[in-house]
Amino acid sequence: MYAEMVNKKLTALKESGQYREFITINRIRGQYPLALLNGQDDAQPVVVWCSNDYLGMSQHPAVTEAMHEAIRLFGAGSGGSRNIGGTHYHYAALESSLADWHGKEAALVFPTGYGSNDATLQCLLRLFPNCIVLSDERNHASIINGIRSTPAERGIFRHNDVDHLEALLAAQPRDRAKIIVFESVYSMDGDISPIEKITELAQQYNALTFLDEVHATGMYGPRGAGIAAERGIADRLDIIQGTMAKAIGVIGGYIAASSSLIDAVRSFASGFIFTTSLPPAVVAACHASVEHLKSSDEERNALHSKTDILRKALTQAHIPVMPSSETHILPVLVGDAKKCKAAAQRLLKQHHVYLQPINSPTVPVGTERFRVNVTPNHTEAQIGLLIDALTEVFQHFDIPFASSLDAEY
Ligand code: PMP
Repeated sequence: MYAEMVNKKLTALKESGQYREFITINRIRGQYPLALLNGQDDAQPVVVWCSNDYLGMSQHPAVTEAMHEAIRLFGAGSGGSRNIGGTHYHYAALESSLADWHGKEAALVFPTGYGSNDATLQCLLRLFPNCIVLSDERNHASIINGIRSTPAERGIFRHNDVDHLEALLAAQPRDRAKIIVFESVYSMDGDISPIEKITELAQQYNALTFLDEVHATGMYGPRGAGIAAERGIADRLDIIQGTMAKAIGVIGGYIAASSSLIDAVRSFASGFIFTTSLPPAVVAACHASVEHLKSSDEERNALHSKTDILRKALTQAHIPVMPSSETHILPVLVGDAKKCKAAAQRLLKQHHVYLQPINSPTVPVGTERFRVNVTPNHTEAQIGLLIDALTEVFQHFDIPFASSLDAEY
């Protein structure tokens, strides 16, 4: 009976076109963005164009050496939760480095960015009696899940719409606890939120602010501390959340905030307390990466100049980059789920280009796309080959080029 129910669900998923198939990609150490497809070790490597290893830090010698050294000293696993033997030396060093990065009193590291959003929001929404949460409609699944796991009332505001947010805030009594949750860079559109205005509203209506900077830290602002730091307003945010799995190049999530908020999450968040801490080697690698990114602009400068080159090349070739993009995330519109999937297969097989199709429900139906990221490691020759490959595939599947689309895109 159970197998039948499971199979029915899977069949429906497959019929909807939303069934996910994993491609096994073996990244080649030291040769990022090159990777080998599984079982094709002698074949031509593919060029990865959709990795969140935005700065190539997963391959940086300072990071990999810190990891090796920590394994040599401490072995593989951490051996327990933070409370039961899992708080090794590297945690304190990393947490104080992250707090300093964001100009906050303290920081707290979680095994994943997902977990840091989920556990912190669950915790805070239960901590403040009768709290209402106001959340941008395009917030990440980890935020949505954290919110939905509590009985807190929620108001969902239209994406980046400060007037809508204000209307929701104004409808609440001033002394009611409120948390506004939003992101700085939205990962599917590459746009940036109106952080200044949202923090002004938060002050006016007495709300806490929670900002997800997952797609910004390492890449924007002085020392790479993110968009809030770039705009000089990190101090106006109560909680800044980030990941160490993207620009930092390793894994793990964190929040940075006042000492008392961090102490409360450390003390009450189930998703923090009852899970094993990260291995020392992982934390040491994260720490080395954060320290490097604080002290060197090299990788982020290269990211931004390569992004400019790629954006220009796509535009000149009439490949439709969605105009929402103000960042290193370049969404290329395909606008059809089947074509997007077929185009991805052709890119991989014929052109050795790896781009994962982004379909519904991650993005709305009709806006299926490729989410293209260049990194400091991509060469101009690889950029040229990507443009040729996309042009050929757009022609092959009759996907509209930019000039033939209406003004909206
Ligand atoms: N927030 C946002 C906006 C994300 O895009 C993601 C992951 N893609 C996360 C949080 C979760 O981070 P992690 O991958 O470190 O779990």
